[in-house]
Amino acid sequence: MSVMKFESGKPRSRKRVAVYCRVSTDKDDQLDSLENQMKSFQLKIQQNKDWKLVKIYADEGISGTSMKRRVQFLEMIEDSKAGKIDFILCKSISRFARNTVDTLTTVRELQRFGVQVFFEKENIDTANSISEMLLTIMASFAQEESRSISENVKWGIRKRFEEGKEKKVPLYGFYHTEDELFLVRDDEAEIVREIFERYVQGETPTKIMNDMIARGVKPPSGDCWKRLQFDRMLKNEKYVGDSLLQKTYVESHLTHRQIRNRDETLPQFLVKDGHCAIVDRHVFDQAQKIMEMRRFGSGNTTYPYGEMLKCPCCEQPLVHGSLSNFTYKGERIRNGGWGCYGQNGCAKYLIIQNFLDTAVIEAFYEKYGERKERVDFYWLDDTVERIELEKTRVTIHWRDGEATRVKMAISDERFAPSEYADYYNGFLGRIAGGEQKNKYRNLMGMGMEVETGTDRKRMRRKHADNESGRKEGK
Ligand SMILES: [Zn+2]
Repeated sequence: MSVMKFESGKPRSRKRVAVYCRVSTDKDDQLDSLENQMKSFQLKIQQNKDWKLVKIYADEGISGTSMKRRVQFLEMIEDSKAGKIDFILCKSISRFARNTVDTLTTVRELQRFGVQVFFEKENIDTANSISEMLLTIMASFAQEESRSISENVKWGIRKRFEEGKEKKVPLYGFYHTEDELFLVRDDEAEIVREIFERYVQGETPTKIMNDMIARGVKPPSGDCWKRLQFDRMLKNEKYVGDSLLQKTYVESHLTHRQIRNRDETLPQFLVKDGHCAIVDRHVFDQAQKIMEMRRFGSGNTTYPYGEMLKCPCCEQPLVHGSLSNFTYKGERIRNGGWGCYGQNGCAKYLIIQNFLDTAVIEAFYEKYGERKERVDFYWLDDTVERIELEKTRVTIHWRDGEATRVKMAISDERFAPSEYADYYNGFLGRIAGGEQKNKYRNLMGMGMEVETGTDRKRMRRKHADNESGRKEGK
């Protein structure tokens, strides 16, 4: 289990301070107390202008844990050896190591790399020589102490259940018992996995949900499958074994109102691998990227290429324009186009996605002997390192180091990227010049309708900026 703090960049000249936390179980009570541990340390670090938080290391220490199983602890030692840390803060000796020998060996090892440790509870700073002696004495008590702490925690959780304080509805796919949280419920977990996998393979939420309804699969809550629920499921880090702490907070002790910690009014912490995962991390990560590309219901998508495409003229990233569907000479042009209309784009390249898709599918076929129906992010992400565009060709650089170069089958020379960009610029110029859109309804795509998506607006604004010689960010 590891914990990362999300922090904005700060100057680097200060003492680099790490925090080590250890909890006895992964239960909510303990997450809570872990959270409190981290919060208080964070405050401490913030208040000290000479300190800078490097990282919070946290281990889940089930009873009987040996030094070997403390993954984060060992990582912290490695980072210390690598010279990334100057100072380590720890709540108490009992949280740091299990017995006297462990504590002293580790502290001495750290000191060899110039790293000192501060134990808050005992007020021991290993930079101080008197502390060495104290440390020996204190460490001997640590083992006994940690045993009693663990008993207290278990008792605490049971008590909360008994008192009805633990009334949280279990998350779909999980269940909890009196003293275990996040146990996997197999039948529901199967559905969760299926949903993630189908989504990652490019199926739309609507299609997946309709299939669930047709098969009579019960929704996570309520009577019917809802898009909001579906999206929340895809975003929920609990399915990959993580917990984002402080998603909500209590407004005040008077109202007891739970508030969503949206704009991170309070710091959030991510506990990694704190409990059993239902979804493979790779699949989960891909789902997050796809959601980002599809931008939740805005109708505007950069799927499936994301930020993979660069302008062959000026190397700037291409942006996606959601051009409407239309038919040209019996060919359906869908998926819009990718053009050099970003913040610093040159506006000299605009490729219709169909042509690109067909070429990428062809390249994949040449390389792997498998003909894909459409371009989907999951296989692009798994196999493609980068895509290099030229005027009419595209080179796919595979992750294995090889490359495949194919010609794009551009049906009409007016659709060649530079010609099309010229054409489009002229169109945008006329729009920016204040002429009515409707007049040019048929101009742009030779029959294509004018759309008012945000990308289109951005493209238009970009053009207006270029025309007036101004340089202005979005
Ligand atoms: Zn360009």
